[in-house]
Amino acid sequence: MNRRKALVIGSGIGGIACAIRMQSLGFDTTILEKLDGPGGRASVHKAEGFTFDMGPTVLTVPHFIEELFSLERDKAMLGEADFPPEILDENQRIKEGVSGGPNTQRYVDIRPILPFYRIYFDDGTWFDYDCDPDNTRAQIARLAPEDVEGYDRFHEAAKAIFDRGFLELGYTYFGDITSMLKVTPDLIKLDAVRSLFSFVKKYFKSDKMRQVFSFETLLIGGNPQKVPAIYAMIHFVEKTWGVHFAMGGTGELVAGLITKFEELGGRVEYGAEVARINVTRQHGKPQATGISLQDGTVQEADVVISNSDYANTYLKLVDARYRRINRDSLVKLRKQSMSLVVIYFGFKADDNDPDLQHHNIILGPRYEELLTDIFDKKVLADDFSQYLHIPTLTDPSLAPPGHHAAYTLIPVPNKLSNLNWSELSESYTNTVLTFLDERGYIPGLRNRLVYQRTITPDYFEGTLNAHLGNGFGVEPVLIQSAYFRPHNRSEDVRNLYLVGQGTQPGGGTPSVMMSAKMTARVIAKDLQVDAGIVNACPAGQVNP
Ligand SMILES: Cc1cc2nc3c(=O)[nH]c(=O)nc-3n(C[C@H](O)[C@H](O)[C@H](O)COP(=O)(O)OP(=O)(O)OC[C@H]3O[C@@H](n4cnc5c(N)ncnc54)[C@H](O)[C@@H]3O)c2cc1C
Repeated sequence: MNRRKALVIGSGIGGIACAIRMQSLGFDTTILEKLDGPGGRASVHKAEGFTFDMGPTVLTVPHFIEELFSLERDKAMLGEADFPPEILDENQRIKEGVSGGPNTQRYVDIRPILPFYRIYFDDGTWFDYDCDPDNTRAQIARLAPEDVEGYDRFHEAAKAIFDRGFLELGYTYFGDITSMLKVTPDLIKLDAVRSLFSFVKKYFKSDKMRQVFSFETLLIGGNPQKVPAIYAMIHFVEKTWGVHFAMGGTGELVAGLITKFEELGGRVEYGAEVARINVTRQHGKPQATGISLQDGTVQEADVVISNSDYANTYLKLVDARYRRINRDSLVKLRKQSMSLVVIYFGFKADDNDPDLQHHNIILGPRYEELLTDIFDKKVLADDFSQYLHIPTLTDPSLAPPGHHAAYTLIPVPNKLSNLNWSELSESYTNTVLTFLDERGYIPGLRNRLVYQRTITPDYFEGTLNAHLGNGFGVEPVLIQSAYFRPHNRSEDVRNLYLVGQGTQPGGGTPSVMMSAKMTARVIAKDLQVDAGIVNACPAGQVNP
């Protein structure tokens, strides 16, 4: 059978998810990955008996994962309900202690984590964040009794945003302005277009609760002061489906997805950096015909899907003469998300270690001012907030016996700051590890440390090809959301599509899985692939 051919540039979670969907649409799909392993931001670093997930650790919406593992060759399944009623039974899976559906379990063991996060404040108090409203009320009553009543109102408002913004509109592809105008009145009614932080301030009086109910967008590159309040839905997404961990690390999820893709007949090439997306003019309109690798090899395809960074895709891979909309000036005008320093470290366990959790948010003395330093002023402050991940508390196999594997992630300005990270990296790492040691989070850490490695904005820029070393693609601000976010179907080049965190709907592992489905839907429509119909067609005769 002569099948149509798809090339996916990059093996981030969004890229692999889209590649699996292309196999289900009947294409012959090859993933071309620059690095020597899959996952992109979700790569794995192994050293001296330690296994470190380099990126995502908080898995949400296990249904999206189950959906990918249940796909079959030549069965598009794009018309099925995105949120079937049986998955909306709040917390049932968490209560049962089972996260992965039956298809997921064949590839990876995913388990719920409780509490979702322990949030430490600078005065040493802490808040355990989970999905149980009674427990949440008790935690609020302990730290800020004046905010218990506000929580109930916040909960209701966040649910309304979740129902409309996620369950009903989450999969809407905003390819034209009309699609956006149609939903704008609803979002205004829900008060979902103001900034998340100002939304949260309406319900909570104490600084602590304002931080607890707004920090989460930082895990997808959003400044709580700038992201629209539609992101209040995260609270409800987590409450509905929980926070999960893949045993063996997120790398096991990535490995499972690659296995699934290969079982469906897909191919992956590693060490295959794409240098250019090849374009010709067909009836005057630019059309993608394939790619050229750095070594000069040319591969032809009917569809090219870029999972590479949005700005990198247009600025580096598509010749400027074919870009009418995504011109250098527009691409460079877009705000990029903040960057990160991530320190991966292994240390000897101690029976007297304090009661840290799997996911710990350690907030610094300043919140709003620190966000302004990172996102607006683009300066490296003396203080910092961090997310400390200790997966060996759930899965000891990630470290040699008697040791913990951990990472700590610190939001820092992207490369518009002009900071020299090759000079700063070592001292910054020491400052952060000393803080964890001296403030008693991991007492004696420096004497117990057996392994450490740090990545900085240089890694995001140089290794992952992320413009300005962004950690999470284009920053999720109102004027870069929905229709105004980069489009999954290139406006400039026919048969070129984008997928992943820089596109619609946005960053984070559930969103890039949604982005893969949205891109696949657009391709199925453009290339007239009917659900359930095997997609054979002579190469080159597509998209009339
Ligand atoms: C440290 C960190 C922690 C995070 N924590 C969480 C979390 O807990 N939960 C959550 O939901 N999200 C989290 N995120 C966000 C989440 O990881 C990302 O949004 C998501 O993984 C991005 O996936 P993607 O498909 O957009 O591709 P990416 O992961 O960005 O991958 C893109 C791939 O393209 C490849 N590539 C680029 N250019 C080329 C080229 N020219 N040729 C070939 N290949 C190329 C790159 O090598 C890379 O493999 C975190 C991110 C980071 C960095």
